[in-house]
Amino acid sequence: MQILIIEDDFAIATNLYDYLESRGYGVDVAYDGIAGHCLAVTQHFDVILLDLGLPKLDGLTICQKLRQESQIDTPILMLTARDTLEDKLKGFDHGADDYIVKPFALKEVEASIVALHKRHSGKVISRILVVDDLLFDPKIMSITFAGSSVKLPPKCIRLLALMMSEPGRVFGRKELESAVWGNTQETSDTLRTHMHVLRRSLSQAGGYDPIETVHGLGYHLVSRA
Ligand code: CA
Repeated sequence: MQILIIEDDFAIATNLYDYLESRGYGVDVAYDGIAGHCLAVTQHFDVILLDLGLPKLDGLTICQKLRQESQIDTPILMLTARDTLEDKLKGFDHGADDYIVKPFALKEVEASIVALHKRHSGKVISRILVVDDLLFDPKIMSITFAGSSVKLPPKCIRLLALMMSEPGRVFGRKELESAVWGNTQETSDTLRTHMHVLRRSLSQAGGYDPIETVHGLGYHLVSRA
């Protein structure tokens, strides 16, 4: 089972990571909201553990974006210190499946994960993203463009999948960097190089480049629909 932890408190995140990994789960951790959201839309997870108060993008917004914009129905377990009824209701309102209050026992978290997973499995999970001629399958991390499979490095796949989650929207350099690399870079060379590889590979596979540079702002995926 693959679990994503989105938690900015290093001690809590490490505790959860160590425990769940020792119990045999595959675990990824993101320490801020943008990095967490990016992982959640570009990789397959069985359960997401989501803190409410996060830098860059808060937990409730992430929940809402996953459910509404990206149509991702992965079970979400909210982790929070706020134990008021109002916050719980807000979490459910935004698409959370269950709620656990800090401080929690690790066994309690695992029991909730297992229960959520059980409840969820059996439903058909379709998280394949399609934008015009582009198709992204997160389960096998593959991109197909105009019917041809495109071989791409993982960071290029993440960049593209992120843009596919909101076609037409302009993604700024810093936003893409912090979503894919976890921080912003000194110069824009790394992003530029990956964009170049991505765009060249897509052009070769499908005969045209679906990404456009928006000068001074960033990049977007041109939706022809
Ligand atoms: Ca927090």
